[in-house]
Amino acid sequence: MRTSHDFLFKVSVIGDGRVGKTSLIKRFTKGNFDTNYAITIGAQFSEYKQVIEGDKITLFFWDIAGQDCFHFVRPSFYVKSHAAIIVYSLETNKFGKQSYRNILNWYREIKQFCGDIPIVLFANKADLIKEKNLNKAKIQSLIDNLDLWNYYITSAKSGKGVPHAFNSLIENLYHQYISITTNH
Ligand code: GDP
Repeated sequence: MRTSHDFLFKVSVIGDGRVGKTSLIKRFTKGNFDTNYAITIGAQFSEYKQVIEGDKITLFFWDIAGQDCFHFVRPSFYVKSHAAIIVYSLETNKFGKQSYRNILNWYREIKQFCGDIPIVLFANKADLIKEKNLNKAKIQSLIDNLDLWNYYITSAKSGKGVPHAFNSLIENLYHQYISITTNH
């Protein structure tokens, strides 16, 4: 029997204010959803534990406020992230479109403060659109251009896609780190 390993991963969750970052983390870690909006002040984190192949993984999801007013404090919250999730909203209104355009800014900010860490994209609020109207080729080409790990269609409200999105990230992170650990 091999000895088990313990991993601790910090995952920063970023994107425009109100795209659903807090709701996604809450949905995944606590299994519930709140329609009331409460602004995240600076940042807050949620702990989540999982066991994969006998190894214990502790995750800290850092929910980082996207509003401009937190611009100066954000860099300190990114410190030592192992991965990042960029969230945007699929709403077809101005807000949703702006959150899509801002993906590039969030990507640049992560690169600047975290370096070359894995990044995934969550396209959230999928319950507000018809999935058949979604231009997946456009999202995939953005993923390819920015060399992101993957994208996931999520709804924090209905819960659809949320476990798959988070679990895929966790499993990929785990496999990346376990291969480094066991090769040494
Ligand atoms: P944050 O500022 O990015 O953390 O966004 P919040 O998680 O606070 O969500 C902002 C608002 O959008 C809240 O009123 C949520 O109830 C709502 N919301 C979040 N996720 C979803 C979703 O998947 N679908 C819908 N319809 N509303 C959502």
